Amino acid sequence: MKKIAVADILAEVEWKEIKNVHLTIYPPDARVHVSAPVNMTEESIRLFLITKLPWIKQRVSQVLEQNRQSPRTYVSGENHYFKGRRYRLKVVNHTAAAKVELQGNEFIVMYVREKATEARRAEVLKEWYRAEFKAILPSLVTKWEAILGVKANKWDVKQMKTLWGSCNHRTRNIIFNLELIKKPLHCIEYIVVHELLHIKVRLHNEEYTALLNRHFPNWKQLKDELNEFIV
Ligand SMILES: [Zn+2]
Repeated sequence: MKKIAVADILAEVEWKEIKNVHLTIYPPDARVHVSAPVNMTEESIRLFLITKLPWIKQRVSQVLEQNRQSPRTYVSGENHYFKGRRYRLKVVNHTAAAKVELQGNEFIVMYVREKATEARRAEVLKEWYRAEFKAILPSLVTKWEAILGVKANKWDVKQMKTLWGSCNHRTRNIIFNLELIKKPLHCIEYIVVHELLHIKVRLHNEEYTALLNRHFPNWKQLKDELNEFIV
């Protein structure tokens, strides 16, 4: 495969029967890949890469960082996210009940017994995330229920693998993915709006999209942010 160097980036180029040029950064090693239409010259691809350079650099560092971060063992020094911000974990031994606190904008401090296992530390952090998430959800849900003119029957927070949220149109029960608390607040708000709107419209059809556009115009950007932001 042809390689093109731009600044300190080495991109691999593949010419294909396609209409538009596609640029992808692949995990885990942040490989930069360009799929170009067959008639696109090497010089045009080079110019295209130059205009995209800030974006490429940002994505490359995100992908590399994501790779560095897993798996976690819940020890001091690890990065953990909360409401879209990156914190360092500090594990402090104590003998009273386990608790977690934020220390400024830098640290998540976990107080646990010295004998606490990795599984126990993971659980303590998870329960803190859950409590924090449940503390911010009621005001968001109430706000958007009023704006959208809907009422959820009940909502809950659960760990989910593939969805940010789910809404049962018939029962009006909503579940939010616990992982959302690691994301910026505006992303959390988008999912609240997204799920509440499913009370009105079950599917992602034109009616649904029209309502979302009206009430939450920048939803596409937030959707992208949700899927790109590092967990
Ligand atoms: Zn949906």
